[in-house]
Formats: sequence, C-alpha cells, structure tokens
Amino acid sequence: MEAWQTFAYIAASILFITGLKMLGRAETAKRGNRISAVGMLIAVVATLLAGGLDYTWIVLGLVLGGAVGALAARRVQMTGMPEMVALLNGSGGLASMLVGWAEYVRTDDLMAFSAVAIVLTVLIGGLAASGSVIAFGKLSGRLDGKPLLFSGQKVVNAGLLVIAVLAAALVVAHASGALAGGGALAFAVVLLVALALGVLAVLPIGGADMPIVVSLLNSYSGVAAAAAGFVIDNVVLIVAGSLVGASGLILTTIMCKAMNRSLANVLFGGFGATITAGTAQMEGEVKPLSPEDAYFILEAADSVVFVPGYGMAVAQAQHVVQELAQQLTKNGAEVRHAIHPVAGRMPGHMNVLLAEANVPYEQLVEPDDVNPTMETVDVAIVIGANDVVNPAAKEDPSSPLFGMPIIEVDRARTCFVLKRSMNPGFSGVDNALFLKDNTRMIFGDAKATITAMVAAFKEG
Ligand code: NDP
Repeated sequence: MEAWQTFAYIAASILFITGLKMLGRAETAKRGNRISAVGMLIAVVATLLAGGLDYTWIVLGLVLGGAVGALAARRVQMTGMPEMVALLNGSGGLASMLVGWAEYVRTDDLMAFSAVAIVLTVLIGGLAASGSVIAFGKLSGRLDGKPLLFSGQKVVNAGLLVIAVLAAALVVAHASGALAGGGALAFAVVLLVALALGVLAVLPIGGADMPIVVSLLNSYSGVAAAAAGFVIDNVVLIVAGSLVGASGLILTTIMCKAMNRSLANVLFGGFGATITAGTAQMEGEVKPLSPEDAYFILEAADSVVFVPGYGMAVAQAQHVVQELAQQLTKNGAEVRHAIHPVAGRMPGHMNVLLAEANVPYEQLVEPDDVNPTMETVDVAIVIGANDVVNPAAKEDPSSPLFGMPIIEVDRARTCFVLKRSMNPGFSGVDNALFLKDNTRMIFGDAKATITAMVAAFKEG
C-alpha cells in the first residue's frame, strides 16, 4: 500500500471515530453523521484510486446497489425502519461472507493466518446474513413473530456450532500444510452451517425482541467486516468493522439492561411464548377522567412531564403532543419529555418521533434526570407507555419486570395515563399504576385525547 493511501485511510478512520462520538448527543448527531459520511467517501475514493482494479464490475455494482438503496430508502415508512435496518445489516454480513469466499477460491497458496481470517469472515458474515433475513421476516410480519421453539433446539444449535468450528479447523489445517488436499469440502461445510445457524438462532426469538437481535447481528456483521479487512489487507475496513462491532455490542448491552434481562434470556429465553405475571395483588380502583376535565388540572400546572411509549407511535400522536406542550409553555408551565431507553419498539423510537414533531432537544430528559425531581412534577402525562412506567419494577419482587429501571411517574403529584383499555403492554404484566390514588385514566386513542386537550386550551 502506498503512503498516500495509508494517510487517506488514517484520515478516514479519524473521521469515523469523531463522527461516531458526535452521534452521542442530539445537538451534534446530524453533523457527526455527515463527518462519518465524508470519512467513508475518502476511504472509497482512496481504494478506487489504488490502481489494478477492474472498474466495469465496480461501476455496475455501484449503479445497481445505489439504485436499490436509494429506492428502498425513499419508499420505507418510518414504522418500517427496523426491518430496513435488518436487511441492510444482512447485506453487510453477506458482503463480508462473499469477500471471504472469493478470496478462498482465488488464492492458491493460502497461509494459515489468511485461512483463519477467511473462515471467521465466512462464519460470522454468513450467520449475520441469514439471521438478519429471519429478523426482517419477523419484523415485517412475513414470518410468524412468535418464538419458534422445539425440543432439543439448543442441542442442535450447539452441535452445528461444533461442526462449524471443526470444519473451520480443517480448512486452516489444509492451508497450513498440516493436512494434504484442498479442504474445499470443509470450507463448504463452514459456509452452509453458518447460514443454517443464523436461521436456527433467530427463529426461537420472539418478534418483539428483534430490535435487540438486529443490534447484536449488526455487531456480528461489523466483526465479519473487520475479519474481511484482514483477509484483503485493508486497514480502514478493519477499523470500520471494529467500530461497528463494538458499538453494536454496547447498544445490545444498553437495551438488555434497560429491560432488566440478560442477553442469554433474550437469545434463548423464548420471551413472548408464555406470559408470566407477578403474584402481587393489585389494590385500588380505576378513576377515569375526560380530556376536558384534565384541562382544568393542566391549566393550573407549573411543571409537566410527558412520558411517551409505544402507544404514541401507534396513535401517531407526536405532532399533537408538541402542540399541547406549546400550549402548556405559553401558559407558563415548565415542560419536559422523559424518554426511557426501551420505550416503543426500537432504539431511539421516541426520539425519532419527537424530533419529527420538532420538539426542542433541551426538553428531552432521561429517567435518571427526571426521577429525582418527580415529587415536584404537577402532572406526568403517560402517552401509550406501560411497561416503562410500571411500579412493579420497584415494588414487586415476583414480577418479571422487577429491577428494570422505570420512569417513576407514580411519584408525581398527578399522573394521567392515556391508553385505550386496561390491557397490559409488551411484557404482558398488569400495571398497578393505573389504580394508584394519584392516577387518572384517560381512555381512548392518544391522538384523539390530546387533540381534545389542545382544543380545550385554545377555547380557554
Ligand atoms: P408497552 O408495550 O408496555 O405499552 C404500550 C401501550 O400503548 C399499551 O399498553 C397500549 O394499551 C397502548 N396503546 C396502543 N395503541 C394506543 C393508542 N392508539 N392510543 C393510546 N394508547 C395506545 O410500551 P412501552 O413503550 O411502555 O414499553 C416498551 C416495551 O417494549 C418494553 O417492555 C420494552 O422492553 C419492549 N421492547 C422495546 C424495544 C425497544 O427497542 N424500544 C425492543 C423490544 C422490546 P391499550 O391497548 O390499552 O391502548
């Protein structure tokens, strides 16, 4: 590799890392995204100018891939974003797998180190590719979202993994000269078992856990790309792949923590196949309220906290939420939007919706910021959130939610809960918040309820 190319790759890597760091804060995220994109442009141009390339195939791939990507990105609805991410993720894994496969076929005198890098690329890339396709199927409803469990499943998967590792060892043994012959059969076994493992590992996981699985598979595709970087001796691919691998793993850990579940429980627990509620009895009565009566309480409030959840996404209530927030601010109230890391059905779900409605960043707060101030909050308005505000997480050791960090709206002076019925949320666990003395249930579609509150404010 020439010096100028190494220099370009280092510059690209610095831009990736800077951009990624900037994605951590809402105010700098857009700029961070652009900086990373510039880094990618530099890396691609430096690779293309390196010489010795057949540009016909590259241009063909660029035009075809670019057209499909642009069309898909334009057509995808905001609600279809998780499955789109799953597919893109799968493409990354597939690309790495193909790079490994091509290098295996192309190289006559394979060294042991290259053989290790190749089998890792094919194994992890193949698993990420086929697993992502199943995740896409479950998220888009093309496949049944229920966990598909059969007896002996874990033994089958463990057996396949052992076969893949043994076959990979054979490929490396052939390459290093320890064994005679080509090892092509062993290579084919690695490839096929990797694809089968991706399918079998994701099928037993419930559709609602797919965002966590996609985040983990994203991490795998990053590791596969880094391994592909070793295969084709490309530094920038190793750096970019490692960044994706590490950040995917961090996101997976954050999501598991926020749900108070271990990664093993997500991957092997078959969550959603059966519902386990806590054993504690719920006491109290439901106290319904009309949006018009809610207005009188809101009109007198100095501090209001909105807590959005999955139901806000279903109702598409984000724009009217912002309208109500503006009315409250005009009325002299301090308004905050408290966002739980796993509210909704994908990472950042609520942030995306509220950003779409132009809610100012400075009004967004995290549970750790808002919980210590909860006693001073006049009204907490829970909009289609359920699990993320369930006090059983603090109070009922027998509840499956026990230990999960929540937004403690039960400690606010008054709490409005906007939902259509008394039904539980994603976890299937009943919510004692609805029966607390300071809670008022405002039944109905969240968008209709908030629209009525806004109308009441406008009429004064
Ligand atoms: P929940 O799933 O706990 O509850 C959503 C509530 O919204 C329901 O109780 C439902 O009640 C209500 N709702 C649905 N439609 C409407 C509507 N049109 N108007 C008003 N209310 C409505 O949501 P949370 O956001 O509180 O919690 C998310 C859950 O999803 C957590 O358990 C989390 O672990 C899980 N999860 C999150 C992921 C993520 O990445 N964010 C990924 C995977 C899982 P009703 O039917 O009575 O209206």
